[in-house]
Amino acid sequence: MGEESIFLKIAKGEIPAKIVHQDDEVVAFRDISPQAPVHILVIPRRVIVRIDAAGPGDGDLLGKLLLVAREVARREGIDKTGYRLVINNGPDAGEAVPHLHVHVLGGRKMAWPPG
Ligand code: 5GP
Repeated sequence: MGEESIFLKIAKGEIPAKIVHQDDEVVAFRDISPQAPVHILVIPRRVIVRIDAAGPGDGDLLGKLLLVAREVARREGIDKTGYRLVINNGPDAGEAVPHLHVHVLGGRKMAWPPG
């Protein structure tokens, strides 16, 4: 086993984070370096390294990540103005932490295409 990622430690409560949602399967917390007025990361408690590592048995958990992301966006008050959900997979996308996470970004106008 490799070293535990920072996000697994957050999910286990071993290091602090500004948690905005947690249940038995999913944890959501504020990004330490926010790229928008609202920037929250939604992660599964169980390690899925990245979306490319997910399998057919992960469908319910992946769906739950999106539903929690939607709920968090509503609670942050960005559901009407709009928000973006981002999953970075691999080096070209800028994936930095090897524990699947959905970015919830909102509270400002965003450009398309992304940089
Ligand atoms: P990635 O580039 O892997 O898609 O996104 C990783 C995100 O995790 C980045 O936006 C980064 O700011 C955030 N991050 C990295 N380390 C920590 C940490 O220790 N705590 C929190 N809350 N966010 C972190």
